[in-house]
This record gives sequence, C-alpha cells and structure tokens, in this order.
Amino acid sequence: MAYDSENIFAKILRGEIPCDKVYEDDWSLAFNDINPQAPIHTLVIPKGAYVSWDDFSEAASADEITGFVRAVGHVARELGVAEAGYRALVNIGANGGQEVPHMHVHIFGGKALGPMITKT
Ligand code: 5GP
Repeated sequence: MAYDSENIFAKILRGEIPCDKVYEDDWSLAFNDINPQAPIHTLVIPKGAYVSWDDFSEAASADEITGFVRAVGHVARELGVAEAGYRALVNIGANGGQEVPHMHVHIFGGKALGPMITKT
C-alpha cells in the first residue's frame, strides 16, 4: 500500500491540522487521541512516512526505529502511566482495524484496562 500524504496524521505532522501535543522529538510526535477510549489515550507516530507497523518495521532505518521506540517509552513515563502499567497497542491493516494509514502506537492507561481483547 502506497503512503497517502493526505492522511489525517500527515496533516497533523505538517501542522495543517491542530493536535493536543504531548511530546515531540526528531523521530516522533505524540498527541492525545481525539476520541479517547481510556482516561489516558495518547498516540505516538513516527515522523517518517510509513503506512503501518508492517511498513515501518520493514523499511525504517535503525535510527528511526530506535528513536521511535524510545519515544513511546518516554511518553508513557511522561504521562505518568509507566509505574501503574499501561497498554501499548498497534492496529495493522484491515483485520487489525487500522483506520488511519500512518503508523501509530496507542498508549492507553489511567485505569485497570481489563482483558487484552474482546472475545467474539
Ligand atoms: P486506528 O484505528 O487507526 O489504530 O486509530 C486511529 C485513531 O486516531 C483513533 O483512535 C481515532 O480516534 C484517532 N483520530 C482520528 N482522527 C484524529 C484526529 O484528527 N486527531 C486526533 N488527535 N486523533 C484522531
């Protein structure tokens, strides 16, 4: 799947759409989810143009991967959820329920989150 530079997170990265920014560094941007599913629900995205975790894990440089993974951990600690625990989640593609085609990690926290996945 080719990267769509008009996706909503690309627009946020370019500053064309506002976000509730939590953290930014050379590799990543973190902002609160517009439709939170937990008391803390923050998204961390790489600055590079990657469609998904699948794309990122295959094509990103070692520096991008290291910078991004460190940013996710840093953001969780900055949000104050690391000690009590939290959930980091990545939806990938259609079956994964990914809606926005720019790689992102969800950070959920602020309460006990219950089972990992709803059985259907
Ligand atoms: P996905 O299903 O792709 O893993 O998650 C996309 C997430 O992006 C959803 O939780 C959704 O609420 C969030 N989202 C969609 N559009 C916007 C937006 O314009 N701003 C912010 N902050 N979050 C958004």
